[in-house]
Amino acid sequence: MKLGIVGLPNVGKSTLFNSLTKAGAESANYPFCTIDPNVGVVTVPDERLNVLGEMYHTKKIIPAAIEFVDIAGLVKGASKGEGLGNQFLANIREVDAIVHVVRCFEDSNIVHVDGSIDPMRDVETINLELIFSDIEVLDRRIAKTARSARNDKAAAKELKLLEKIKAYLEDGRLAKNFDDFEDEEEEELFQSFNLLTAKPVIFAANVTEDDLPNDGEDNEGVQTLRKYAEEEKCEVFVVCAQIEQEIAELEDDEKKMFLEDLGLKESGLEKLIRASYRLLGLISYLTAGEPEVRAWTITKGTKAPQAAGKIHTDFERGFIRAEVVAYDDLIACGSHNAAKEKGLIRLEGKDYVVQDGDIMLFRFNV
Ligand code: GDP
Repeated sequence: MKLGIVGLPNVGKSTLFNSLTKAGAESANYPFCTIDPNVGVVTVPDERLNVLGEMYHTKKIIPAAIEFVDIAGLVKGASKGEGLGNQFLANIREVDAIVHVVRCFEDSNIVHVDGSIDPMRDVETINLELIFSDIEVLDRRIAKTARSARNDKAAAKELKLLEKIKAYLEDGRLAKNFDDFEDEEEEELFQSFNLLTAKPVIFAANVTEDDLPNDGEDNEGVQTLRKYAEEEKCEVFVVCAQIEQEIAELEDDEKKMFLEDLGLKESGLEKLIRASYRLLGLISYLTAGEPEVRAWTITKGTKAPQAAGKIHTDFERGFIRAEVVAYDDLIACGSHNAAKEKGLIRLEGKDYVVQDGDIMLFRFNV
């Protein structure tokens, strides 16, 4: 799962990215790491793993993780190839969701590319670049489809859809809210276009410390942003990137104290990671044993064999059944054996839809 951090220059993207990756660096035992400085692996905080770790006297805990990509360099004119515009837009095409950082803080020492603080203008600048880029993609596809549309029914249908979406974007709307589909087939086609503005968006409103919501009301910029986000069905998340960076540098104990002083339960980053998970419709199932307790990321609705496939493709191919216990049931019983005696360990087949917090053990043929 990959999230791209976008926004105009000097809005706090790198500050946010650095604090995210620094916070994520604790998970040194995470199985994959990357040498690309613009990509950071961030673990998903999950208290359940520690509880299971104690129950199983586990040596190793491996949380779920998401990747964040710092996509710098998006400026006005990017879709026209300004700067390295097209390359940055191509990077966005590869992510599953977008974290759009919006500057809602005043600081005369830090130049704004457009000379003043105006969150809505900034959001529109970035959105327009994304929209232009999508229209270009649609135009290319329209040109290609139009050729075969005269004697090919499917192509004619696709052409109609492409033109409908293009008109929608030309109204300044984001493709993610387009819903004028005639059937499921059209919806699938739409997915295959992989439009930038079809991706889920979280706005990260970067405010000064004093404007963090626990200190009272949202500032004016955040309020307008919230209204817009509601219309476009995006989430807003208020953060002070500078504070996050300071928090990320602290040791665990210090971090707790620092947050308590600020009247917060968790850091903004933890909230952001959770919000991303929710936004993408992701859940975790767990595997637990002495060698390792681990969370595995799946989308809601995933069935047991495909969930098993996250561990190894052989698990999916040779899937026989799964032994499943819900996290709450296991904790209530106190041990795997006690849960078994109470009949709370279930055997589930290939049609079982895996739930968040299921502890799974797969049986499979090799
Ligand atoms: P980017 O160009 O969007 O990646 O922006 P940076 O993260 O490099 O930040 C630009 C400047 O703004 C840096 O000097 C940061 O220290 C500063 N900055 C970032 N977040 C905040 C914030 O929340 N408040 C203030 N006052 N400055 C910030």
